[in-house]
Amino acid sequence: MLIETFIRKQLRLKAHRVTKVESSEDSLIIFLDRMGQRLLRCGVCRKRCLHIHSVRKEREWQDLSMRQSRLILRYGPRRVECPRCGVRVEEVPWAEPWARVTRALSNAVARWARELSWQGTARQYGLNWKTVAGIVKRAVGYGLRNRKRLPVHVIGIDDVSRRKGQVYLTVVYDLERRVLLWVGEDRTEEGVKKFFTEEMGRRRCSTLQVVCMDMWAAYVNLVREHAPQAQILFDRFHIVKHLQEAVDEVRRSEMRRLMGREKVTFKSTRWLLLKNPWNLTGEQKERLSTLVRWNTPIVRAYYLKESCQLFWEYRQPKRAQDYLRKWMSSAMRSRLEPFKKFVRMLRSHVDGILPWTKLRLSNGAVEGMNNKIKSISHRSFGFRSAQYFIAAIYHCCARLPLPVEC
Ligand SMILES: [Zn+2]
Repeated sequence: MLIETFIRKQLRLKAHRVTKVESSEDSLIIFLDRMGQRLLRCGVCRKRCLHIHSVRKEREWQDLSMRQSRLILRYGPRRVECPRCGVRVEEVPWAEPWARVTRALSNAVARWARELSWQGTARQYGLNWKTVAGIVKRAVGYGLRNRKRLPVHVIGIDDVSRRKGQVYLTVVYDLERRVLLWVGEDRTEEGVKKFFTEEMGRRRCSTLQVVCMDMWAAYVNLVREHAPQAQILFDRFHIVKHLQEAVDEVRRSEMRRLMGREKVTFKSTRWLLLKNPWNLTGEQKERLSTLVRWNTPIVRAYYLKESCQLFWEYRQPKRAQDYLRKWMSSAMRSRLEPFKKFVRMLRSHVDGILPWTKLRLSNGAVEGMNNKIKSISHRSFGFRSAQYFIAAIYHCCARLPLPVEC
């Protein structure tokens, strides 16, 4: 088989043919031309056109490499007279109208960009970062237009921070299928509203049964407004995170006080605690008792945290409720301000916490995906705009279909 025929078959050309192949040191240049009088398609509406208006100057497309050689297609696109659209550039079967790479190459790039960083993908194919970014953005656009929109029953809303917590994105997962549904800038009511109005629409909102999320007023308001039938469930992982923050706050303020009041170094206090009390001198005993006194807030915080965690084991709503109520009143009596704050938060959200005993759902199911998003943001220093970051998240987590090669 001649190489011309081979390439024609590979590119599945019908109205075009390969006229010659030139090889240089690192690339093969494939010259294409129109095949006889076969009809070309309009680049806008894809209709076959009878008349050719003119020939545009030759341009190049990069294709998948063959061994070490880059493959370059070279062709002068025709301008056709379309009865519907007027004079337009023809549609070439190997690439999108604006593209400088073939569809085969852009699909390969899109596939790799799910695994590698965009920089790494670019290096792999001898492209620049911007080309890869453009390919991913278009693949995501195609995927979003062409994905199946199945009914959704259980969703999880979460936020992702960018630039050390200065910029937030909101992500929404389908917790049943464990797939990303939506990413949007911001975590304000205005920003996340688009998920309910644009992505879901009224009809799909009406099938929502459970919405799992953090205790965040903007999200609560949106669910109440757009999916009032859905049960709000405050996410276990978020509640635990707030609890741990309370412990940490107690520890930090105690450490500050400890440092300020007396110059007791950490090393010597540790030794005081380890030594048998009957071996301590009078002065040491005194130091130990003040230390224990100073540390009681930390000890109390630790026990409160541990006992709070028992709530998650309850399966009977009544018992769970009793336990939580008892725990909250003991925390209120703890004289630890961070815990009081935490209890006040729980009290006003209790309707969305108790359903845990029955539902046993949490955003932890998609923790892998949250980690993936974190690793995307770490490996991609090029995301100066949120738009690129959003495209990368969709690309890696939403299981979108890729454009079909013809
Ligand atoms: Zn047309």
